[in-house]
Amino acid sequence: MATGPDYTFACPECDESISVNGSMRDALVENGCVVCGASVTNAVFSSSAAEG
Ligand SMILES: [Zn+2]
Repeated sequence: MATGPDYTFACPECDESISVNGSMRDALVENGCVVCGASVTNAVFSSSAAEG
């Protein structure tokens, strides 16, 4: 059973926007943006439940 994305990550540095799940969010906070390597916090994630 697939787990859909729970959050939208929006990098404040490179403007990359990707859908992530909880563990991906944790990894991004830990390791930084996958594209530009900028440090990110939980604040750059928004819930994708209210999409649209
Ligand atoms: Zn970035």
